[in-house]
Amino acid sequence: MKYIEPASLPEALEILSADDEARCLAGGATLVAMLNADLVEPSTLIGLRRIDELAGISVSGDHIRIGATTTHAQIAGDDRLTGNAAVVRDAARQIAHSAIRNMGTIGGAVCHADPNADFPGALVAANAVLEAAGQSGRRQIPADEFFLDYLETSLEEDEILSAVMVPVEPVGARGRHLKFSRTHGDYATISISLVLAINSGACSHARVAVGSAGPAPVHLAEVDALLTGSDLSGETIKQAGQKLMEAADPVDDVRGSAEYRRMIIPGLLQRAVDELR
Ligand SMILES: Cc1cc2nc3c(=O)[nH]c(=O)nc-3n(C[C@H](O)[C@H](O)[C@H](O)COP(=O)(O)OP(=O)(O)OC[C@H]3O[C@@H](n4cnc5c(N)ncnc54)[C@H](O)[C@@H]3O)c2cc1C
Repeated sequence: MKYIEPASLPEALEILSADDEARCLAGGATLVAMLNADLVEPSTLIGLRRIDELAGISVSGDHIRIGATTTHAQIAGDDRLTGNAAVVRDAARQIAHSAIRNMGTIGGAVCHADPNADFPGALVAANAVLEAAGQSGRRQIPADEFFLDYLETSLEEDEILSAVMVPVEPVGARGRHLKFSRTHGDYATISISLVLAINSGACSHARVAVGSAGPAPVHLAEVDALLTGSDLSGETIKQAGQKLMEAADPVDDVRGSAEYRRMIIPGLLQRAVDELR
């Protein structure tokens, strides 16, 4: 197996498209474990850490751009991620332990597309857009369309995720990611990512996504519509929770049965609303 550390994105894309068996290496938190377990056998590893344009967070106009190799710890500690983007920072803060947060990157996390991970739901709730770079240019993929199935995304094999774009708007919105897990540092049994804006007691914006509830984050436009314009009464939250529960399709595993996971959703949604109100 070869290891190459290109200094630019075009160089990395050239290596990737010339070799079907090549694979990007970001933080390595997951990929190295998969290599050690002989689950993958790439011919070439393309280390992304020397590519400056993939690193760091910048604010420009109507969005916050998070480079693909930005670590969870950098996201968790960045005070510019407020309002709508706070849901992404909140998710980063709750990933595993500090060793993993210092190692793992947002690009690696979303490209691996583990349905139990914290970023997918948070990015859907924040209405984020993922930027995919290919040799013929860049394309933007809404988070809602990026996560397709268990460990499957809409990124093409010859593309590299370059950044995640989180909208600054809506003004006055606030985000919260609530994670229900067996122990501190574990993957979520269920997570709720919620962005709300409240004006004079009424909800003027709502976007909610549920993680660990199926192969991809569960997001229902009808639930957002039910909450938006409402006074977020207990009855409305209960109805919203019921709809999300019915749409969820979780697995039975060591973190909980599918039925148990579903049952957590309404209460966790209520708690997220209470914390944001
Ligand atoms: C012990 C442990 C506990 C964890 N707990 C949690 C948790 O509680 N919550 C949670 O959300 N996550 C958790 N994770 C996952 C972790 O946070 C990382 O997100 C994950 O390891 C992937 O990030 P990485 O940068 O290490 O990617 P890597 O391991 O380097 O890569 C992962 C995959 O993404 C591909 N890839 C990486 N970057 C790109 C890119 N820019 N473009 C295209 N493909 C790319 C790689 O080829 C590989 O297939 C845990 C991981 C471990 C090991």
